[in-house]
Amino acid sequence: MSKQINKKNIERYSRQIILKNVGPIGQKRILNSKVLIIGLGGLGCPVADHLCRAGVGTIGIVDFDKVSLSNLHRQSFYSHKDIKKFKVDVVKKKINLINPKIKVKKFKKAITENNVSSLIKKFDIIIDGSDNFKTKFLLNKISIKYNKTLIIGAISKFDGHVFSFNFNNRKEPCLKCFYQSEPSDNILNCEREGILGPVAGVIGSLQANEALKRILLTKDYLNKKILILDALKLNFKKVLFNKKRNCICKK
Ligand SMILES: [Zn+2]
Repeated sequence: MSKQINKKNIERYSRQIILKNVGPIGQKRILNSKVLIIGLGGLGCPVADHLCRAGVGTIGIVDFDKVSLSNLHRQSFYSHKDIKKFKVDVVKKKINLINPKIKVKKFKKAITENNVSSLIKKFDIIIDGSDNFKTKFLLNKISIKYNKTLIIGAISKFDGHVFSFNFNNRKEPCLKCFYQSEPSDNILNCEREGILGPVAGVIGSLQANEALKRILLTKDYLNKKILILDALKLNFKKVLFNKKRNCICKK
């Protein structure tokens, strides 16, 4: 049964319903959307925060890890008392404290070739907040197979990247079209390379922004482009890239 806007909802979401691109119809679309967030680290936390506040009706969260002390400088959902707790447990609780109406489905596991299809099938939009390219390429491949929307984020040091793909539209390129081969450095290692907290916050927020725009059908997507942030020099740039011939995204 689809979710409707009631009196309480109107007040909760009034500041976004007032927007021309949202309105009651857009809000209803948000309430009935299903988004899966892979990874509850520096990217996954702001994504979950923005989406539950906006009213995304069903949020899936996937992470096998526990909160550690070194997570706290950037992973905005966790506090000192959450250390050693499973991230999915803390995030589910937090989401429902912010917005009790959200249905949260938690998956305490790592994404693998074997479980990825069953995980993403029931969601409309997949948001990648993982810390490694192996997972990003796996999500790319399976999102193409099931015609999903996939929003990828990557962060390291002062740098951030965002990709946004709708594989229902096969004119759009995919992650493989951008990277000729998989980057040799598989892990985006925050431990070794370091990461500034706000970079994770900005990139995660932009991923949530793209997801809401996709739900609202605003049309001004980041399609066919990568967004690159250099937070040190404070440069944002969008770089166009083409669909490669004979890529896995070819229909
Ligand atoms: Zn491709």
